[in-house]
Amino acid sequence: MNYLSTRGHPDRKRFCEILLEGLAPDGGLYLPEQYPQVDAATLAKWRKLPYAELAFEILSLYIDDIPPADLKAICAKTYTAEVFGTDEIVPLRELEDGVYLEALSNGPTLAFKDMAMQLLGNLFEYELARRGSELNILGATSGDTGSAAEYAMRGKKGVRVFMTSPDGRMSPFQQAQMFSLQDENIHNIAITGVFDDCQDIVKAVSNDLGFKRKYRIGTVNSINWARLLAQVVYYFAGYFQATAGDDKPVSFTVPSGNFGNVCAGHVARMMGLPIHTLVVATNENDVLDEFFRTGVYRVRAAVDTHETSSPSMDISKASNFERFVFDLVGRDPARLRKLFVDDLGLNGSFDLSADPAFAQAAGRFGFRSGRSTHADRLATIRDTEKRFATLVDPHTADGLKAAREQLTPGVPMVVLETALPIKFAATLVEALGEEPARPKKFEGIEALPKRVVKLPADAEAVKAYIAENCD
Ligand SMILES: *Cc1c(COP(=O)(O)O)cnc(C)c1O
Repeated sequence: MNYLSTRGHPDRKRFCEILLEGLAPDGGLYLPEQYPQVDAATLAKWRKLPYAELAFEILSLYIDDIPPADLKAICAKTYTAEVFGTDEIVPLRELEDGVYLEALSNGPTLAFKDMAMQLLGNLFEYELARRGSELNILGATSGDTGSAAEYAMRGKKGVRVFMTSPDGRMSPFQQAQMFSLQDENIHNIAITGVFDDCQDIVKAVSNDLGFKRKYRIGTVNSINWARLLAQVVYYFAGYFQATAGDDKPVSFTVPSGNFGNVCAGHVARMMGLPIHTLVVATNENDVLDEFFRTGVYRVRAAVDTHETSSPSMDISKASNFERFVFDLVGRDPARLRKLFVDDLGLNGSFDLSADPAFAQAAGRFGFRSGRSTHADRLATIRDTEKRFATLVDPHTADGLKAAREQLTPGVPMVVLETALPIKFAATLVEALGEEPARPKKFEGIEALPKRVVKLPADAEAVKAYIAENCD
């Protein structure tokens, strides 16, 4: 399997080459040259597999530069009941007639990002050992990504993590999750500033090519193809649990920010998994809902990006969206460049409303969308608690609301649960007047000793800190 860039760069790469890379050299995103096709006989065979073996089968179709026995061992080591809480790894439960929740948030940091990041940690350790190399991961987080990356990379040989976050702006639980880690290869850097300052620092450091090369700086952001690929697996696992046979369609609703999660659903559908509809659920930051309703993709300015009670979906542009649009315009890199380089660069938007390709977004690719507000989230959290004695986090609540607007009779609707409620306790308290239950392993974490340094919003200060801590 070879990988290409959405923007038409002539090079083709293998999986392990793009594993440790971010963007393609021309600024595009990597995608496989074609999507492997899965037929009904294969689906029937996979239906019975434990999660780790299913992951191995799917990953094998995309990874041909790791010996199968090694890849199998990596999957077996990653997806265990010990790490994810159950043998099913992603158990499905029926909420109401035909509406299901797929639990993706029982990993170490209680958000779905663990599903991919845990695999990435093991793939990184494997590939770095094979090359005799090291990697220093520099990241910016407002919460879920940073903790998932740290828990995946802690104690891994050859990897250090330098994670910046806006000082004092994460929830106390999220801060405690990250800062209580005592592993030597994990460095928390609280920046006196906001999340955008952290992102600017990461960009500035990555743009200093000399520094980047000397200190082997890498990232783990959501455009990484390996993360997306890991997420494809749970669409298959959800499908098998929601159906008894292999030709019945299932729909999925996905709380979305950077379009990484739902893009994995798109890949699963392109492989032939019978997915009826993919519902993109957004909050007040409705860049994606606007596109699927109108055909206009309009990136927001920082001042127009709302701080909401589903903060992991507070995005101004959706960094993985380019992958879907590449497929939408028939994989034509010249058209893709016109949209993402010329139009977005010039106007901050592009308009496909009059283009026949836009009609295909719903028709051929099965996409629909929905939007929620803070009031909707509170109402959904209350209603779900009252009718089903089930607590959902604010992001999953956004998903449930959009899902109910897009039901098709006779087609099961699977809503992806992207975090556990305890991560967003303040909103749960606002909705229900009480704190959600906390898993045992997180009791009292706010009181643990904290390992964090505070630095000004200055790329030079962060570079100096990395240089000091790199041997
Ligand atoms: C990251 C995240 C999302 C958004 O996922 P994308 O892949 O960026 O679309 C939604 N909910 C939660 C809880 C998250 O952590």
